[in-house]
Amino acid sequence: MNLILLGAPGAGKGTQAEVICNHLNIPAISTGNILREAVKNGTQLGLEAKSFMDSGALVPDEIVIGILKDRIGEDDCQNGFILDGFPRTVPQAKALDEMGVQIDKVIDIEVADEKIMQRLSGRRVCADCGASYHIEYKPSKSEGVCDKCGGETVLRKDDHPDTIKDRLHVYHEQTEPLKDYYQQTGKLVVVQGQEDVADTSALTLKAVEA
Ligand code: AMP
Repeated sequence: MNLILLGAPGAGKGTQAEVICNHLNIPAISTGNILREAVKNGTQLGLEAKSFMDSGALVPDEIVIGILKDRIGEDDCQNGFILDGFPRTVPQAKALDEMGVQIDKVIDIEVADEKIMQRLSGRRVCADCGASYHIEYKPSKSEGVCDKCGGETVLRKDDHPDTIKDRLHVYHEQTEPLKDYYQQTGKLVVVQGQEDVADTSALTLKAVEA
């Protein structure tokens, strides 16, 4: 099964991608994680992407389309995949179509902007393994230390309040039109993000199974 998770930054796409990944045993692919890894390793790709990411802007289409194409060509994607954070623009969705990728469902997780602000400004991520926490809703056992690998948990540069506002603006301008794009193909399923993440996960799995 080939799935796309759509939603604003901070809507919980990453968490839901993990839930579906465990349920269907297909890989979750996050272009954001691939790019962050490249920045961390100081590769050419990382150098090109960093300034866009830090300011909350999107990395140019041709760069992310190339990354995605390579990634879904890998062996573990033969039985399907979940895309988390791609496509983010209509040209990216069209590129996916042109690659001949058949998408089964697009799950759109809806969360109000105010809630997103609250979630992202409280989010902490492990600088080493990328595990995600929240100072209120999902704190690590020991403050500032990752439960999984012992790395340091930090506020992502793009989770500073002003940058969150920019990212939400970019989402509404450039990514939200994808709802119409996939509505027209009959692939869009809307899931309302719930207060309790377990409730959102239940709705997401129901949408996957439907
Ligand atoms: P994310 O972790 O998905 O919120 O992505 C973090 C940042 O990586 C975004 O704010 C963008 O700068 C960049 N990024 C990730 N995926 C894409 C994409 N599909 N298109 C353009 N930029 C992306």
